[in-house]
Amino acid sequence: MNRQRKPIAKPSAAPRAKANTKRGGELKILLRRVAIQKRVREVAREITRDFRGQRVHLIGVLKGACIFLSDLIREIDLDTSIDFMAVASYGKGKESSGQVRLNKDLDSNIAGLNVILVEDILDTGLTLSYLCRILRERKPKTLKIAALLDKPSRRIQDISADYVGFTIPNEFVVGYGLDYDERYRNLKDICVIDVPSA
Ligand code: 5GP
Repeated sequence: MNRQRKPIAKPSAAPRAKANTKRGGELKILLRRVAIQKRVREVAREITRDFRGQRVHLIGVLKGACIFLSDLIREIDLDTSIDFMAVASYGKGKESSGQVRLNKDLDSNIAGLNVILVEDILDTGLTLSYLCRILRERKPKTLKIAALLDKPSRRIQDISADYVGFTIPNEFVVGYGLDYDERYRNLKDICVIDVPSA
């Protein structure tokens, strides 16, 4: 796994996203839609290669991962199935509460399945550590993590993803499923949002 070098995003070189400045904080494009599409296809190819001839069961972490999962699964050339979990770790705004709560559990049993936990962003690692702990107890055949974004500088838990879209700096980002107070999930680009800390 992780054979390819992961693209590292640099926000400073990005032009401003003029169209979105009306809605609150100022937005700067960090990752353009074309780069995201290309990288999602590459990650899907890695998964297809690693699980050739097998079924993979994708578990999306709501709500942020829904768009990444939707694009990823359509590029995976394998027998697939989907389920979702919902957790709450961030309240309103940009700061994590530091505690993870399960708001929605899986609909079906994962024993014996090749599970790929699909997350929008790996930040402190608290959410994925918690989810991996409870999923391992359910005895999947394999358990892997696919994270679109990775912010390694913020890590508290010793955890890494098996498939990473982009490594990004310590900036709060929105778009492509990621929100700020439930807004901006529909942006096609991933943008750094400049709003005061809570
Ligand atoms: P962790 O538990 O790893 O600290 O955080 C994981 C969750 O925090 C993500 O699923 C996401 O909901 C939220 N998060 C972390 N960083 C960001 C960010 O830069 N932007 C947004 N919108 N959410 C983030």
